[in-house]
Amino acid sequence: MSFVESEERIALRKAVSELGAKYGTEYFVAKARSGEKTTELWEEAGKLGYLGVAVPEEYGGGGGGIGDLAAVCEELAAAGCPLLLMVVSPAICATVIARFGTSEQKSKWLPGFADGTLKMAFAITEPDAGSNAHQLKTHVRRVGDDWILKGTKTFISGIDEVDAVLVVAIQKTGPVLVVVPTNAEGFTWHQIEMDLLAPEKQFTLFFDDVRLPDDAVVGSPDQGLLQVFAGLNPERIMGASMATGSARLAISKAVTYAQQRQVWDNPIGSHQGLAHPLAKIHIEIELARLMTQKAAALYDAGRDKDAGEAANMAKYAAGEAIAAAVDQAIQTHGGNGLTSEFGLASMLGMSRLSRIAPVSREMVLNFVAQNSLKLPRSY
Ligand SMILES: Cc1cc2nc3c(=O)[nH]c(=O)nc-3n(C[C@H](O)[C@H](O)[C@H](O)COP(=O)(O)OP(=O)(O)OC[C@H]3O[C@@H](n4cnc5c(N)ncnc54)[C@H](O)[C@@H]3O)c2cc1C
Repeated sequence: MSFVESEERIALRKAVSELGAKYGTEYFVAKARSGEKTTELWEEAGKLGYLGVAVPEEYGGGGGGIGDLAAVCEELAAAGCPLLLMVVSPAICATVIARFGTSEQKSKWLPGFADGTLKMAFAITEPDAGSNAHQLKTHVRRVGDDWILKGTKTFISGIDEVDAVLVVAIQKTGPVLVVVPTNAEGFTWHQIEMDLLAPEKQFTLFFDDVRLPDDAVVGSPDQGLLQVFAGLNPERIMGASMATGSARLAISKAVTYAQQRQVWDNPIGSHQGLAHPLAKIHIEIELARLMTQKAAALYDAGRDKDAGEAANMAKYAAGEAIAAAVDQAIQTHGGNGLTSEFGLASMLGMSRLSRIAPVSREMVLNFVAQNSLKLPRSY
């Protein structure tokens, strides 16, 4: 067991961090405010192989693991560019197709994931299901050699900028994962108005008897449940990485400000009322990063069950760390914490998101209570 990242991983972090610095918070916030996408950044990251770092080499990817992809996501977030679609497109969708897809599906989709030219959204959440995946109603049924998809999904990120969406649907034997191109007949969506400053928008999707070919279902229809669980672990690891990256950024801004700002005889950072919370959050971020790296290592070692527990814990710890980090960074800046110039208030929505999605803080605590501690469930 090693707590030291490989030379390659350290070099990857450095290179991605340099790319992120070329864009940075101002670029990201300007795009979000104007309703534009971070296309230039996505394309450059794709060309440099960062988005496809975990795609198998035979399909043009870097042949790395989820730990490498999580490092990319974390460093971009730490540079002020938390890319929500990284959590779904290269993490859940590419991972699931690489692990479970047929050879035709892999040849069709993976090269596009490898260079970032293909983007895929992920849709599990439904209006009446939310945290309770047992209530999912969106279903597929066989008609001849085709599949017919019907149902509604909500809070789906980025549907206006992707080529397809990986949908969790129910069929006779349980859940299956279905790839639905965004131009499929009968597939419509509408944007949800959000007070969240992010270039990626959220949508409610409507599948009105969408006819899909036989190969729309990923891999074997009997493996759906396994696929969903396998996909959710990378999602949590990536969600945690994005959160720890953004938390690092918030704390580094706070520390810089606390060293420079002086309203008494010494810089405000010398007052323990500010120094201790910053130190505490720094520790919490490092703990969350450590758990995220553990979850990624377990996932990459094929230990799905252990990875599930660690990924949930990492996601919880990272969500708490970023919420505390942004809050304390704003406090450290006084009035400047709420100005556009210092770019902290614009992080508030995303910092809260980390406690809600892709799995809420309460559902992680339920998971740990029931699975790790074997306590009875109340719901
Ligand atoms: C910006 C954004 C982007 C998103 N992107 C995607 C996406 O791309 N794809 C996708 O599929 N989904 C996406 N989601 C959905 C997200 O995963 C859900 O919002 C999240 O899982 C919570 O579900 P819900 O909103 O329905 O809350 P609910 O399930 O209604 O829960 C509401 C509250 O009740 C609590 N609660 C519920 N049940 C229990 C219980 N048993 N015990 C204790 N507390 C409980 C929850 O923790 C939460 O605090 C996104 C959401 C947001 C806000």
